[in-house]
Amino acid sequence: MALSEIQSRVAQACQEAGRDVNDVTLIAVSKIQPLDRVEAVLDEGHKIFGENRVQEALGKWPDLKARYDGVSVHLLGPLQTNKARAAMELVDCIHSLDRPKLATTLARLAQELGQCPDLFIQINTGEEPQKAGMLPAQADEFVAECRALDLPIRGLMCIPPVGETPSLHFALLRKIAARNGLSDLSMGMSGDFEQAIAFGATHIRVGSAIFGARVYETPTS
Ligand SMILES: *Cc1c(COP(=O)(O)O)cnc(C)c1O
Repeated sequence: MALSEIQSRVAQACQEAGRDVNDVTLIAVSKIQPLDRVEAVLDEGHKIFGENRVQEALGKWPDLKARYDGVSVHLLGPLQTNKARAAMELVDCIHSLDRPKLATTLARLAQELGQCPDLFIQINTGEEPQKAGMLPAQADEFVAECRALDLPIRGLMCIPPVGETPSLHFALLRKIAARNGLSDLSMGMSGDFEQAIAFGATHIRVGSAIFGARVYETPTS
C-alpha cells in the first residue's frame, strides 16, 4: 500500500522545510476509487479523506463512517447551493467556498443546523475562466464578507493551472492568506505536495499517489 510511502515523503518534506509533521494534514482523496482500495486505507488506520462530489460522498461515507471510528470527510469539489445542506450534514470541512451566494447559503444553514464545517475559501490563483474560485483581487473583500457572516473560515485553497509552476501559485496563496490573518493553506496534490509543504501547506490533498490511478468508467459498446 502506498499510504506509508506517502507518509514518509510528507515527513521528509517537513523535515527539509523545518516544519512539524503534525502541522500538515494528509487528506486521502478517495473520489472515483473502488471501495476495496478505500477500505484498505481505512484498515491501515487513516482517518481523513477527501471527496469531490456530494452525491458520490453520500453514496459511500455514511456507511463507512458507521463502520470506522473517527473518520472525517473533506469536500474538495464545487458545491451547488441545493446540495449545501446534505454536504454540511456529512462533511467536516469544505475546501471549495468560492462565491458570495454559497457563503450566504452556508451561513443560513449554519444557523438552522447549529453547526458548520470548517471552511476554506478557494482562490483561482491562475485566473482561469473555467475554474472555480475567487479571483486574487477579490479575495480580501470576500474573506471580510465571510467573516461578517460568522462563517468559520480556516484558510485558503488553490488548484494551480496544469502546466504552470505550482510554487508560484502556492506562494501567491500564502501571501493572500497572510495578509488576511488566515493560518491554513489547502494546497498540494500527488504531483506537487512536497513543494506545497515547502511553501507552508497545512492540508495536502493526495489521491492517485495513495490509491493508484483513478479508473473512470468508459462506455461499453
Ligand atoms: C482529485 C483532486 C485531488 C487529488 O488529485 P491527485 O492528483 O490524484 O492527487 C486534489 N484536490 C482536488 C480538488 C481534486 O479534485
